[in-house]
Amino acid sequence: MSSTHVAASNFIRTIIDGDLASGRHSSIVTRFPPEPNGYLHVGHAKSICLNFGLARDYQGKCNLRFDDTNPEKESEEYALSIQEDVRWLGFEWNGEVHWASDYFDDLYNFAVELINKGLAYVDDLTPEEMREYRGTLKEAGRNSPYRDRTVTENLALFAHMKAGEFADGAKVLRAKIDMASSNINMRDPALYRIRRAHHIRTGDKWCIYPMYDYTHCISDALEGITHSICTLEFEDHRPLYDWVLDNLSIACHPRQYEFSRLELQYTITSKRKLLQLVTSKRVNGWDDPRMPTISGMRRRGYTPEGIREFAKRIGVSRSGNNVDMAVMEGAIREDLEAIAPRVVAVINPLKVTITNYEGALTREADFHPQHPEFGSRQVAFCPELVIEADDFAEVPPDGWKRLTLGGEIRLRHSYVMRCDEAIKDAAGNVVELRCSIDHATLGKNPEGRKVKGVIHFLSVEHALPAEIRLYDRLFTVAEPDADKDVDFFTYLNPESLTVVQGYVEAAVQDAAPETRYQFERLGYFCTDRRDHQAGGKLVFNRTVTLKDSWTKS
Ligand code: ATP
Ligand code: MG
Repeated sequence: MSSTHVAASNFIRTIIDGDLASGRHSSIVTRFPPEPNGYLHVGHAKSICLNFGLARDYQGKCNLRFDDTNPEKESEEYALSIQEDVRWLGFEWNGEVHWASDYFDDLYNFAVELINKGLAYVDDLTPEEMREYRGTLKEAGRNSPYRDRTVTENLALFAHMKAGEFADGAKVLRAKIDMASSNINMRDPALYRIRRAHHIRTGDKWCIYPMYDYTHCISDALEGITHSICTLEFEDHRPLYDWVLDNLSIACHPRQYEFSRLELQYTITSKRKLLQLVTSKRVNGWDDPRMPTISGMRRRGYTPEGIREFAKRIGVSRSGNNVDMAVMEGAIREDLEAIAPRVVAVINPLKVTITNYEGALTREADFHPQHPEFGSRQVAFCPELVIEADDFAEVPPDGWKRLTLGGEIRLRHSYVMRCDEAIKDAAGNVVELRCSIDHATLGKNPEGRKVKGVIHFLSVEHALPAEIRLYDRLFTVAEPDADKDVDFFTYLNPESLTVVQGYVEAAVQDAAPETRYQFERLGYFCTDRRDHQAGGKLVFNRTVTLKDSWTKS
């Protein structure tokens, strides 16, 4: 965690520094409050790094709390995946996992307290009527005809709501605040709704469920959260957060601070839309390596260290946070550069026959030029090789340094080789090169001439076949969901996944799933978590290319 450990300052750290200096708090407690209604995405990774990172840096605590107030959309699978993702990113929450549903009894009692104080009432308006009464940004709302029910009446009705005596949606409990407020969130927001839905934790105990805004502030307070950090769209909800806590007998009053959401170009950061990609089978599940989910990034080969470094680089502020994919890939590449052993793979093979060599030879080669401790392996050479098809050009463009007819290149870790003949199929495609080596050039420069180009190759006899999955951006435009009138599916990149059969060197044969390599000259690759079998079917995902391929277009 060396470089990722040094935290850059931001406005939230400034606030915390002030709170600690003034004695307002002696230590901090933050929380990460996902709803278990989907897998976490890169935006959540930013929030995780922020909340858990603050707790770590200030020797405070960070709770993991599930906001499980929408039973129809939530599942155990999602809750488990979220815990796995947080841990994989390198963080551990304080104590047990918390659930908003742990507080359903408290939340009910606090609602009764609000009713008793004349600050909440049961409303019978239909959802359509309620919308009509709410007014608009320009127009004040109107009071519901049920707003002046007595405390006794409200207490009885709320108890009957809880007891299941009314149909779903027939009534709601609302806060009594101000229908003329310029902030629509303060126009008597709903606190409880009737919904007969099975809940992953409380089963069928409840048929009324508390609303998010009401639940969130109380959960924060009950857990003694000091700094409740959320994204900017909740800024207008902050007065409600404070109103609820100001009007209840809870000693703790956390402060809410908002930062801007991460948007990553060429992808989407909305669980709802990611779910659509999954259910429509446009991708192969939540952890498809093209997905901006944490599990997708993991499967693609991104490292937790790289993602944390990304979070550090994008920073935390209140201004727009629309980030170029190159920033993410740069952080990942830098991490992989230092940790991934380097081996050879050929992903677009062209057969090469060496006409003046017999037998076989192996030479030792290091796994990493700067890390001798990674060890070395044997690199094989024999008369039948494969090279990358695009390392050969029959008609070379200007400045071409790789192989051409009559030209020479160095085979990496091996001899200098000249191409003598290109063999073509009936359609005129080059299908084989016949080449010869200079026997005097094994590990030595040739006499009397310079050979500039170096290409990689594999010995067919020693190489292993492998499935190699090449990923490109998932969408063809930077902001696929920017235009409300165009379905973001329209912008799916039909070429976001290309599967090729290539070759890898034998040194990777027993690699476990999730092992990372640099394939020299090709990029960073990771054995697939699901489909790769050590010693069996080899499957590699391209994590990222060696150079930035995003900023050019
Ligand atoms: P989505 O719209 O994708 O469902 P959400 O905000 O509804 O996101 P939650 O599960 O409620 O998802 O989010 C948990 C936490 O992650 C919240 O504190 C939220 O503010 C934060 N978060 C979600 N998306 C982003 C994002 N794009 N950038 C930064 N933080 C985010
Ligand atoms: Mg949410």
